Amino acid sequence: MHEKEFNKLNELVEMVNDKIHKLYEDGEFLEITKKIKKVNLAIENVCNITVDFQVNAFDSKKEKSLRVLTVAICSAGEENPYLAYGDASPEKYLVDGNIRKVPHDVCPDCWGDWDFKFKNHQCPECGIEMGKEVKVLLDTATCPNCEKGNVYLNKPKCDKCGFEIDMSMVHWG
Ligand SMILES: [Zn+2]
Ligand SMILES: [Zn+2]
Repeated sequence: MHEKEFNKLNELVEMVNDKIHKLYEDGEFLEITKKIKKVNLAIENVCNITVDFQVNAFDSKKEKSLRVLTVAICSAGEENPYLAYGDASPEKYLVDGNIRKVPHDVCPDCWGDWDFKFKNHQCPECGIEMGKEVKVLLDTATCPNCEKGNVYLNKPKCDKCGFEIDMSMVHWG
């Protein structure tokens, strides 16, 4: 997905996210959360129950969905149900010279599951490789490993997590 398309999609994601949050804060899901608790007790807390709200973009050519938002009402054991998020932050990539933006746990080309790309160098689904067909595009100093520290072209070791960027796997934008 191109960066522009992803950013457009993200406008919807933010809107849906805000709306669900507001409904939750306003108590609109009270009936559902009560019911979840009841069901939880009835099945003796053997499962963790989630009621999920998702935004997906389906590509008919790829025959795959890109999940860009998951907000879930979760419940486990005796705890009261709570709202949780299950999304990977977006990352920019250079795939055969084209900029792509997708959640960081999927392949920017085929959208298959592919997390921890600096450790697992090859997409398990389509086989493209870090440093070859695909590179992480770094146009901010944010560390792609911990997303808290900073990395720079002349200082590729993160000041927070100590992760050292493999220069062959990134493109400095
Ligand atoms: Zn792939
Ligand atoms: Zn870091």
